[in-house]
Amino acid sequence: MRVGFGYDIHRLEEGRALILGGVDIAFDKGLAGHSDADVLCHAVSDALLGAAALGDIGMHFPDTDPAYAGASSLDLLAKVADKVRSAGYRIMNVDATVIAEAPKLLPHREAMISNIAGVLGIEASAVSVKATTNEGLDAAGRGEAVAADAVACVEDAA
Ligand code: MG
Repeated sequence: MRVGFGYDIHRLEEGRALILGGVDIAFDKGLAGHSDADVLCHAVSDALLGAAALGDIGMHFPDTDPAYAGASSLDLLAKVADKVRSAGYRIMNVDATVIAEAPKLLPHREAMISNIAGVLGIEASAVSVKATTNEGLDAAGRGEAVAADAVACVEDAA
């Protein structure tokens, strides 16, 4: 059994959609980035890649590559899952925390879990998405950014 860790942060800007866990969340700002900037999917991707020691999301999907401009990070997460399986691992579970001062994420939790479990090909009960504020501290706390941490567990499929 192997464990991986992932972290990401993206800046909140006006005129962008807020996509978290593949869910388009109504908000007056969204996350800036080359792809759809889905910080949750990015953290989960890096956790899975980390568990399999396959590098990081930036290596596999460079933000200089026009192919990934506006890309769905949920689709990229599906590709990451394929890479992890191809390397001989079975995805066991994922646990993530999104750090955002606003909006409230609880109403979107089930949809985010369902999306992530769907692309990973695992049960929804094996995916945990938690949310917290940063109590007004640092960039996430000031509402300037949304961050996410994730851990993933894989096991040798052989
Ligand atoms: Mg990112």
